[in-house]
Amino acid sequence: MLAKLSQVNVLAPLSGTIVPIEEVPDPAFAQKMVGDGLSIDPLTDVVLAPIDGQVIDFQSSHHAIVIAGEAGVKIMVHVGLDTVLLEGKGFSALVSKGDMVRAGQPLLRFDRDYVARNAASVLTEIVVVNGEIVARIDKASGMAEAGRSVLLTLHLEVEASDGTPPEHDGEMLHSPVIELRNPAGLHARPAATLATEARKFSARVVLSCGELEADAKSAVEVMALATRLGDKVRLSGRGSDAAQALDRLAHLLRDGCGERIDDATRLAASRQAQDTCSAPVAQADTSNDRAFAGVAASPGLAVGHIVQWRDAELEFDETGSSFDEERARLHAALEIARNQIRSLAPHGAQGDAPEVQIMEAHLALLDDPLLVDPTEASLRTGVSAPGAWHAACQSVVRRLQQHASAQLRERATDVRDIGTRVLTLLTGGKRSTPVLGDRSIVLAHDLTPSDTVSLDRSKVVGICTVAGGPTSHVAILARSMGIPAICGMPAAALSLSDSTFAVLDGTAGVLQTDPDPTLLADVGRRQEAAAVQHRANQQAAHRIGSTRDGHRVEVVANVRDAAEAREAMASGGEGVGLLRSEFLFEDRTAPPDEDEQAAAYQAVAAELGTQRRLIVRTLDVGGDKPLRYLPLPKEDNPFLGLRGIRVSLAYPELFRSQLRAMLRAAPAGNLHIMFPMVSDLDEVLAAKCILREEQMKYPHPVKIGLMIEVPAAVAIVEALAQEVDFFSIGTNDLAQYTLAIDRGHAKLSSQVDTLHPAVLKMIDLTVKGAHANGKWVGVCGAMASDPVATAILVGLGIDELSVSVPAIPAIKAELSRLDFEACRTLAQRVLKLGSAAQVRAAIAG
Ligand code: PEP
Ligand code: MG
Repeated sequence: MLAKLSQVNVLAPLSGTIVPIEEVPDPAFAQKMVGDGLSIDPLTDVVLAPIDGQVIDFQSSHHAIVIAGEAGVKIMVHVGLDTVLLEGKGFSALVSKGDMVRAGQPLLRFDRDYVARNAASVLTEIVVVNGEIVARIDKASGMAEAGRSVLLTLHLEVEASDGTPPEHDGEMLHSPVIELRNPAGLHARPAATLATEARKFSARVVLSCGELEADAKSAVEVMALATRLGDKVRLSGRGSDAAQALDRLAHLLRDGCGERIDDATRLAASRQAQDTCSAPVAQADTSNDRAFAGVAASPGLAVGHIVQWRDAELEFDETGSSFDEERARLHAALEIARNQIRSLAPHGAQGDAPEVQIMEAHLALLDDPLLVDPTEASLRTGVSAPGAWHAACQSVVRRLQQHASAQLRERATDVRDIGTRVLTLLTGGKRSTPVLGDRSIVLAHDLTPSDTVSLDRSKVVGICTVAGGPTSHVAILARSMGIPAICGMPAAALSLSDSTFAVLDGTAGVLQTDPDPTLLADVGRRQEAAAVQHRANQQAAHRIGSTRDGHRVEVVANVRDAAEAREAMASGGEGVGLLRSEFLFEDRTAPPDEDEQAAAYQAVAAELGTQRRLIVRTLDVGGDKPLRYLPLPKEDNPFLGLRGIRVSLAYPELFRSQLRAMLRAAPAGNLHIMFPMVSDLDEVLAAKCILREEQMKYPHPVKIGLMIEVPAAVAIVEALAQEVDFFSIGTNDLAQYTLAIDRGHAKLSSQVDTLHPAVLKMIDLTVKGAHANGKWVGVCGAMASDPVATAILVGLGIDELSVSVPAIPAIKAELSRLDFEACRTLAQRVLKLGSAAQVRAAIAG
């Protein structure tokens, strides 16, 4: 029951011309859905409290505030129209929710010019949101003076109530969960529409979002939920017409409560796409709490909805068939796992070598009653072999993790490892992955290379990961797929709701959630400009790669399979400078056999023909590219451990079968073989010796090359040049090893800048050493795909640039603009500088 007050005066919160509420160009106000009152066309920019009372709602965007007076009167001041979309830009709060205020006290300040330019209107509404307690309203007209003019005189119902008491009887009914599609959540207008409709029913209806609840009949309470696009809400109701109320209100919520959802969605759709422009989004500042800054990993802009990529689990049915069948299934998988582990024994390793000890430990675990007994016990209760094995492993892992002994805690990793190995065998490696809608921005802690390449390019417009940096493999793959990406995101981004609307700027490394219309418009303009630039670049794409004064530099592609090779040739690629063969080995339970590999290499060769060069790199795993079936020892510094050529020499059977497959494919094209991560002449001699032995069976001549990725290789390049035909510089690794920064380091990887003079010096030394011995040098690291670096690489004498497929036209276009002598002068100048920033400044200047 309300206090017996007959009259309340509402002061003008702003000075300006009074406008009848019916004339406000927004139906929610004009039709008094939010409440009755007046509007002011403001001349001042500080909103004053219209009554004494408490701030009971203050939208996070600070464009609307509600004060509850002593008499129960609730007055809302709503600055401008559609100002919720400004998301707080141009507004500053002077009070907070919960504060007691006096009439005339400043509540908030706004930038009138900014609001006038960026919102639908500056007209400011002052309305009574609980009009049911008011019998009559006297309204002023003409001009209002802030804090002095009485704008509204409210004549209250004496002994008024909050309206017909809602019904509390009957069964509580619930609607399904509804995902909000309103771009700015349930702000004033949709909240008012919902409340107006809810009031047509006698049932009590509650709208809940997470832990919070609101009376659906109160627009203020609904607004106070502070919902956002993609939030999941539910209606609950009790009363004689609760079913009808829930049905109607659920429809209304799904349709956007009178908001033009489709228009908002269409606007976003028309602006989504990717570009290759190198300028960051002008408004993509990270000063608001909806922006997340990471490391620029793959250039371009994308507009879409977040899809959280939770760790993809192996998929299996919990219920099994008979005990005998499931037991046989389990033991067959355990036997295959044993054979796998034994067959991958490193060549020549002694019994006390760490990898041998790990293998033995894994073999012992496969027979451990701690795992096998509870698994079999579960099988007796009807659980499937994968279900029972998984549960047993999980339980042992948990127990080990809690153990006081550090040694036993470490064993949890081994149990997890063999657990996954056996589960992969039991399930055939089938994994459940998130459902992707159109225009998905995939957000993950990390993505494996195989997860990344399996992303549906027709649906995924952007990728963000918390782990990794610009030269981590997810970044390399995103670039090759032409998908804008950010790595090194703050972990807080993993809490963003699925469907959150966002702009991803892969060039600036910023994800802006709930973007405002200004940013969306800017993104649209940049995407159009990039498309124009791309079309212009494509005209140069099929010309031979050279500078404008005729210095020849081949522009070839980095690919992983035949389909990408075809795309590369269609985009103007002059050959393949790097076939990353490891993609054939990932996401499977056993390595591909020789026939499968030979067929895969032949297919790539067939795309290129016999003239264009195809450089196939031998297996490059380890570091951040583990293989499930290859039990590499756990290392404190995997990037400094068993990686690249070291793995091939440690597992010679694997290496030999790959070399045989390459030699079998060689007659189909102009095939070259390249060894990764070389740091010592002996490694090259050992690899060549194995190759020569295999060539006895398949005597096709092939050219041999080395990747220069380690400073040690640079230092001995002249000796290496005696043994091989060419070099290709892996600048991703060369930079991490030269600068001593892990390329996947979430915080530091942005500093792995290949334009650092130290890295340039390494390139310079390599080119000089190779050319002095008549060998040519390419670059196949990500640096080759960056037009900013092209002049310097050309100036340092690089003969071939092997780039991601989407970058081919841009690099060829950049080359055609350069003058070779000018490039040489620039290169010599930057070699004397002391930081990447100075080099970048020299390029720009
Ligand atoms: C490199 O290191 O630059 C390179 C091309 O190899 P990857 O990125 O595959 O390690
Ligand atoms: Mg490398």
